[in-house]
Amino acid sequence: MFDVIISGCGSTGAMLAAELRLHDVRVLVLEKETEPPSFVRIVGLHMRSLELMAMRGLLDRMLEHGRRRPVGGLFAAIDKPAPKDLDSAHAYLLGIPQPVIERLLEENATQLGAQVRRGGAVTGFEQDDKGVTVELADGERLRSRYLVGCDGGRSTVRELLGVGFPGEPSRTETLMGEMKVGVPQEEVAAKVAEIGRTNKRFWLRPFGEGAYSVVVPAAGVGDRAEPPTLEDFRQQLRAVAGTDFGVHSPRWLSRFGDATRLAERYRVGRVLLAGDAAHIHPPTGGQGLNLGVQDAFNLGWKLAAQIRGWAPETLLDTYQAERRPVAEDVLDNTRAQMELHSTEPGPQAVRRLLTELMDFDEVNRHLIEKITAIGIRYDFGEGPELLGRRLPDLDVKSGRLYGLLHRGRGLLLDRTERLSVGGWADRVDHLADPTAALDVPCVLLRPDGHVAWIGDDQRDLDDHLSRWFGKPARPDRRSAPTATRPG
Ligand SMILES: Cc1cc2nc3c(=O)[nH]c(=O)nc-3n(C[C@H](O)[C@H](O)[C@H](O)COP(=O)(O)OP(=O)(O)OC[C@H]3O[C@@H](n4cnc5c(N)ncnc54)[C@H](O)[C@@H]3O)c2cc1C
Repeated sequence: MFDVIISGCGSTGAMLAAELRLHDVRVLVLEKETEPPSFVRIVGLHMRSLELMAMRGLLDRMLEHGRRRPVGGLFAAIDKPAPKDLDSAHAYLLGIPQPVIERLLEENATQLGAQVRRGGAVTGFEQDDKGVTVELADGERLRSRYLVGCDGGRSTVRELLGVGFPGEPSRTETLMGEMKVGVPQEEVAAKVAEIGRTNKRFWLRPFGEGAYSVVVPAAGVGDRAEPPTLEDFRQQLRAVAGTDFGVHSPRWLSRFGDATRLAERYRVGRVLLAGDAAHIHPPTGGQGLNLGVQDAFNLGWKLAAQIRGWAPETLLDTYQAERRPVAEDVLDNTRAQMELHSTEPGPQAVRRLLTELMDFDEVNRHLIEKITAIGIRYDFGEGPELLGRRLPDLDVKSGRLYGLLHRGRGLLLDRTERLSVGGWADRVDHLADPTAALDVPCVLLRPDGHVAWIGDDQRDLDDHLSRWFGKPARPDRRSAPTATRPG
């Protein structure tokens, strides 16, 4: 019997598996593909995802394989530099191929003790009061306490669960592939610059070893099960650019649409959904992978708490309450961006107007904080502005704050040096540090780095420890600060 079976070992499934392993949860990840994907989508890890990686000690591994870029031009590819003083120690975009992110996250999950079984497609399941029986394509049946569908936009788990996935079907499709060109680089660059001024769904970018990443609008909405041919690319390149650039020797060819859909529920009993299984939208602004990884980060500690037996009654349901509105907002911003990508005169006029408005710092900042997810504020009820937001990676006496969150536990950051986490010390660390760069006396951080309480009163703190971390293990004893360190 496993505690959790995860269907799908993409970035969401791998991140969730690692988060669960931090709490010794027995995890099996079932992945239908026998080999990791070779399909390269250049993906940007945005500020909040980079912060998550820093919180779990994974950032250096990601940095080794990616290239730091400025955080500008994210919203509908409108070319504006980011505001200067973005409130993050990781204020850049990390360009890194999706298969590399997936590999690093999977390696991390297995190093932490998760089992990953490739060639294991989930085809059915039944749930009862005690757990879920999961059926594989070869007929094998496995038992776990919970099942999480991280199996992508066409999620089998979501379909079997009968959860609706309302939204809009694809209206446009885009061809994407990697291939060689038969004309000089300067010729390609000149044409791309000319067309790219008005057509944001067209580019040819050098991709190393003489290959180019090619993106061009498709002729219409086709059968997604059928991959496009090289001839489809040639035809569309001629239609858009007047030349097919002599493209040849494709390494892979693919197409993607702009379907936009959101699952009606993220949880039914012991079965949950995360990542693309819960939401799909066009890739404008590069948000999908980031959103899924952040779902996993929100869900991991809550599901672990449920399994370890200390979760307060409603903790697991806060996953949907917090993350579904975030996805709704991403869906909306991608809808808006797609309109701004249209070459029709009306949307082009709106684009010019928004380009002007982005000269106002507040507008630019609002859009950047939205796309990079550092502006998220969960609804934890009435309270100061910081409540429900993530705390940036502050300086603390032992180094950086995020270095104290590697183990996925809560943290009391206490400038008064007189508070205690008492009977919650088995789940919550305590750093007494009057020098911490905070302008409030104390904050209680959840394992995902969001501020769950602000104050200086022990009784009020105890109430909030109960709200987020359940009943104390030792109700009567006060604890001394724990010597927390990166671990
Ligand atoms: C062209 C393009 C560019 C993009 N660029 C960006 C970007 O720059 N930034 C960004 O953040 N996002 C980007 N995205 C979106 C991103 O690729 C997805 O949001 C992300 O892959 C979702 O991750 P996931 O783990 O939730 O799902 P997936 O990556 O779809 O992973 C699901 C996994 O589940 C497996 N699976 C499916 N069914 C089963 C089953 N029945 N049993 C077991 N396993 C199963 C699949 O094989 C797969 O490995 C882009 C998408 C496209 C198409």
